[in-house]
Amino acid sequence: MDTLKDFLFLKANVAAEFNPFDEREYLVIQTYPRDQSLRVSKRSFDYESAKSYEIIVNMAHDCSSFGLRIFHNSKLWTVDFEGNPESISLEQDWKIAEKYFQPCCTNDVECEVNICQCSYPYFSTLRVDISDTGEYSSHLRLETCLVDDNSREIDHCPNCNCALIVEEDEDEDEDDLDETESTPLACIGCDNYHGQYYGGNMLVCGIHARGWDGENCPDYQQ
Ligand SMILES: [Zn+2]
Repeated sequence: MDTLKDFLFLKANVAAEFNPFDEREYLVIQTYPRDQSLRVSKRSFDYESAKSYEIIVNMAHDCSSFGLRIFHNSKLWTVDFEGNPESISLEQDWKIAEKYFQPCCTNDVECEVNICQCSYPYFSTLRVDISDTGEYSSHLRLETCLVDDNSREIDHCPNCNCALIVEEDEDEDEDDLDETESTPLACIGCDNYHGQYYGGNMLVCGIHARGWDGENCPDYQQ
């Protein structure tokens, strides 16, 4: 039976907005650099031709990369070697709510739609206050901006769960940073040395997370 929604879908522009792709349609999308909206490079129902297009287009572009996805259950999925949906893709055809396209920046408020490394768009508002004594303070607020999920304050990406705000508390971290800024003496040249920061703390290596006191680490390896 026809419902009101079925009639709506007769209008091409409405239908495209609700559901621009067809079930089991293959899409070759640009996965890097990312854009606010999905960049579809090729659409096809034929797995082999979509797959070979993906390989060619990746060879032809040095600064962009492309991935093959399949549209299934209203979502994009990665594709297994037989062309079937494998797992939910991190990239989706995100729909940003209309209100986030309105200009909202003022002298002391900067707002924009950002994109997480996984393709998820979110909205950031940076408010800068200047006190009477001339001191700056800033407040960053991140929120969801999708049609079906917006205005919700977030600090992690709802799609891939990566941290979107890196806390920089200068007063507290200053001493730590000075100490660990360069490679610790005991670790210079060691294969186990890792030295990456996670949430403001350096993971020195997998064996001694906080490093080795002194110059001769028992696990030094070259
Ligand atoms: Zn993400």
